[in-house]
Amino acid sequence: MSSKIVAANFKTNHTRRSTAEYVASLDRFMAENGIGTPVYIFPPATALENFETESGIRIGAQNAYPTVKGSFTGEIGLQQLGEFGIDTVLIGHSERRHILGESQEFIAKKFAWFKEQGFTIFYCIGEPLEVREAGEEAVRRYLVEQCEGIDTSYENLIMAYEPVWAIGTGKTATPELIEKTHSIVKAFSERPLLYGGSVKPSNIAEILAVPGCDGALIGTASWDISSMQSMLEIVNSE
Ligand code: PEP
Repeated sequence: MSSKIVAANFKTNHTRRSTAEYVASLDRFMAENGIGTPVYIFPPATALENFETESGIRIGAQNAYPTVKGSFTGEIGLQQLGEFGIDTVLIGHSERRHILGESQEFIAKKFAWFKEQGFTIFYCIGEPLEVREAGEEAVRRYLVEQCEGIDTSYENLIMAYEPVWAIGTGKTATPELIEKTHSIVKAFSERPLLYGGSVKPSNIAEILAVPGCDGALIGTASWDISSMQSMLEIVNSE
């Protein structure tokens, strides 16, 4: 049985109803096909639910505010997550860093707070194209800066290396580049390290075969259930 971690980031896709159908159908598929690899689904906040699954699919929040409750318009806190038994959160995703403008200081504060709650934290780092083009040392420095204030040895931490230029672009990093960059990250964090960036059924096998790659964080290709099932079948057969 594969121990690679597979995580699906729905972003702003799927409704409450379609998420429930997706989880039920994926659960059946995993149980029928004996797929025991750890699977995490990050639906939008409106679709969070305490799903009872046979296969042990875990549900996480794409984002949350470091508070139990309070006056933070548009945000959700621990009380809202607790209602659905959610104890997993994604922090540092490039869309929150670059589109929503989250600073490293705020990200580190969020991380420390959810660590304090014992949450499983998926922590994303990854360089934009101009940094990649500036060379490997620039990439290393950038990734180290994105871990400023972060306890990279936290026991419930799962790291994800997601180059910004590969997210949602259909452009995947080569296995060589993933291996090299994962070794840079592994030098400062020994926690499991996923790759994310245009992972799909046609490339998941070669990506997961990269030494030092402990799984995949998948956006676009996870939204369609049959594509997700194909990827899980591939992971399970490795
Ligand atoms: C992501 O947003 O985490 C991601 C990896 O997206 P995609 O698979 O669409 O590149």
